[in-house]
Amino acid sequence: MITASAQREELPRLLANPLAHARVLRTRGVSATVSRAASFGLAVVLALLAGFTLSSVMVSNRRATDVAEAVRLNNAYRDASLDVASAESLERKYRLEPSPQVLARYDAAVSSLKSSLEEIIASGDSVGAEPARQAMAGFDVYRLAISRMFAAVDAEQTALVLQIDGAEVDPTFGQIDELVKKGAAAQATATGDAISRLRRTESAFAILAPSVFVLGFVLLGLFTWAIRKYRQQIDHQALHDSLTGLPNRNFFHRRSAEALEAANRSGAKTAVLLVDLDRFKEINDTLGHHYGDLVLTELSRRLESQFGATDGVARLGGDEFAVLLSEPTSLEDATDVAVRLLLAIRKPISIGELRFDVDASIGIALSPDHGTTVDELLQRADVAMYVAKANHMGYSTYSADDDLHSPERLAILGDLRRAIESNELVLFYQPKVRLHDGVGIGVEALVRWNHPTRGLVPPDDFIPLAERTSLIEPLTTWVLTEAMTQTRRWLDEGHRIPVAVNISARSIVSLDFAGHVAELLRQTGAPAELIELEVTESAMMTDPERARLVLEELHLLGLRLAIDDFGTGYSSLAYLRTLPINVLKVDRVFIANMLTVSADRVIVRSVIELGHNLGLSVVAEGVEDDDIAVELGRYGCDEAQGYFWNKALPADEFFRWHQSRITGIAQTASSRS
Ligand code: C2E
Ligand code: MG
Ligand code: MG
Repeated sequence: MITASAQREELPRLLANPLAHARVLRTRGVSATVSRAASFGLAVVLALLAGFTLSSVMVSNRRATDVAEAVRLNNAYRDASLDVASAESLERKYRLEPSPQVLARYDAAVSSLKSSLEEIIASGDSVGAEPARQAMAGFDVYRLAISRMFAAVDAEQTALVLQIDGAEVDPTFGQIDELVKKGAAAQATATGDAISRLRRTESAFAILAPSVFVLGFVLLGLFTWAIRKYRQQIDHQALHDSLTGLPNRNFFHRRSAEALEAANRSGAKTAVLLVDLDRFKEINDTLGHHYGDLVLTELSRRLESQFGATDGVARLGGDEFAVLLSEPTSLEDATDVAVRLLLAIRKPISIGELRFDVDASIGIALSPDHGTTVDELLQRADVAMYVAKANHMGYSTYSADDDLHSPERLAILGDLRRAIESNELVLFYQPKVRLHDGVGIGVEALVRWNHPTRGLVPPDDFIPLAERTSLIEPLTTWVLTEAMTQTRRWLDEGHRIPVAVNISARSIVSLDFAGHVAELLRQTGAPAELIELEVTESAMMTDPERARLVLEELHLLGLRLAIDDFGTGYSSLAYLRTLPINVLKVDRVFIANMLTVSADRVIVRSVIELGHNLGLSVVAEGVEDDDIAVELGRYGCDEAQGYFWNKALPADEFFRWHQSRITGIAQTASSRS
């Protein structure tokens, strides 16, 4: 997968790769700090606008109140002036023609003058208050003088009238008159000033208010934009994968649900493709997550570029992607897309001096054929993807036969759990013979299920199911215990019969498996050298490194190890060479037709040769007739098993066959000698 080696020091330089930049750019946007600042700014601008509005209203109000007060005092002075004028003319009139009416009018004018002055004085510190206060100070003296003068008028003492007028009334009244005029003038000026101040304030606000509001609105807009942008970013993050920028599982779910709803209404088809990278863990484990991230980013870009607006690719997590095809017209369309995706993924990826060859497995599920909800389709695409991965098919379409979750399969699994506990499983033993002389040299233990209603269930009907759940563990333990116990029993009866047991993928990559086997050997008393473990190529390839560790431990325990169904998997010779194995078992698909199909014959011969070159013993599986057995013998194949000798039998039946055969061989040998 990795075709050149990298130095750790290169990492920073390679991370400066445009791919990494693309990732950083995708996530760049309004940061939380900017958004917080924008929210704060928004609050400040709103507060300032409110403050400005409030203060402008208050200032205008105060100015208007000042003007109203000034006008009121101005009016009071105007009344006072009028009262002064009418008091003066009524005083003169009384002196010429005294009458109670004139006196009453005079008194009214003077009282009015007095109350106007009092009103002005009550205003406190206005500019007109002081002259009014001074006028008021001379008022009583004036009233006293006028009373005395009017008494002289009533008494017709003209000389006294003239004297009081000239010496007392005129000067005091003249002073009051002057003060009233002075106050009126000052108050008029003050009123004018107040009005101008009000006008100035109004025109200032008339100019300032629009500017402040425009600025406020601009800032409001700016801050609101920043906050909205941040919200959008948060929404985007909630629905997108942060590494690749692709829609995430939530988004995929939402969009697929909508597409499905529309498709269900219109009767159209929809397809979900689940893409899972093969052995991606190797990149992460070997070169670190930085490289893994770069590879994922590049692959996301490639996948994304394959689709239009209505279809979409999402990253569901890790190295798993999903594609929604909202308008495939047929299954062929969906498989075409799968092929296109595989081609895009398989193109080598270069990062710096490294070249990565990535592969993937794709599962396809169609609606309405395989499901009508997103969860159903995803689950079924997952089943199909698993099949594609296990069989190195590239892609695969959902089939109920592969599905653990179909009701029938779930029922089988439920039953199986019970079957293991209640001892419904049985081991059958198929003999293995040495080809050059036909001597039985061991057996392969093959499990069957003695089902209360279904009868004898073959392993192909329940082992693959069990292998996909943890049930395979108790099942393997049961088979190993039973096979070892039988080996020990035969040994105790004086027969050394090696027994081969099939081991599942889960066990062979489980780091405590060898310890478990050692414990079972101890418990049953079976000698390790009489137990052979068969592991298929594909089981080892699920995690080659762990498988190697476990096989080495088993080898150290003294067990023999065989590769089962050889030729059907994809293990590399370079890898096989490094394993501590003893036996290659050629798969029966090649044996069955080796006499008629030349390609199969070539494969069988090559595997035998290869096995011998690696120092291994080669076993042919599924030998059904004499011709094949003879031909295999000619090729130098060491051992074989198949219906030609016998099928798998219960222990006692096998043993009878074994005994008769030994006797038969012995008789043949003695008759030959
Ligand atoms: P396998 O390990 O390759 O076992 C050989 C299979 O080929 C057996 O099928 C056997 O009955 C069958 N066979 C043997 N000779 C002939 C022949 O001449 N012609 C034909 N057509 N078939 C022949 P079986 O017993 O149905 O087992 C099927 C598979 O189930 C096994 O393939 C093995 O992978 C798995 N299996 C069986 N028992 C166990 C077990 O205890 N544990 C695990 N993990 N897998 C098991
Ligand atoms: Mg086998
Ligand atoms: Mg086999």
